[in-house]
Amino acid sequence: MASKKPRAADEKFCSDCGEAIAAKAEICPKCGVRQPTIETDFDKSTLQTATLLAAILGFIGFMGVGHMYAGNVGRGIALLLGGWVLWILFFFTIVLIVGIIFVPIGVALWIWSIYDVRSIIKNRSTVGHSHDT
Ligand SMILES: [Zn+2]
Repeated sequence: MASKKPRAADEKFCSDCGEAIAAKAEICPKCGVRQPTIETDFDKSTLQTATLLAAILGFIGFMGVGHMYAGNVGRGIALLLGGWVLWILFFFTIVLIVGIIFVPIGVALWIWSIYDVRSIIKNRSTVGHSHDT
């Protein structure tokens, strides 16, 4: 199978006919074939590991490790360095009280990184199981 029409972020390819269908679809609307669900168990453990990495390591100052685990190394490094820059800014400005503003920024970035790594894995799982390569 060569080029299909581009897949939207919330779509996957039907395991049978290759039609782009909603990622959450259990049955292909075009050919009526039930979509395989075997991979969800594997993806769940990947999802849990990446979520834990993003949550725990992100909390202690290593944001982005979850992203690297999920395969998005570029964004992982950006998050890791971004988190460190925030820490440095925090420590250099906390004596002036204004450093406090980096705390909510860091917490927001940390929470976002957890959600983001989960969406990366959810999207990747549907891409990885398409047979259109
Ligand atoms: Zn189909």
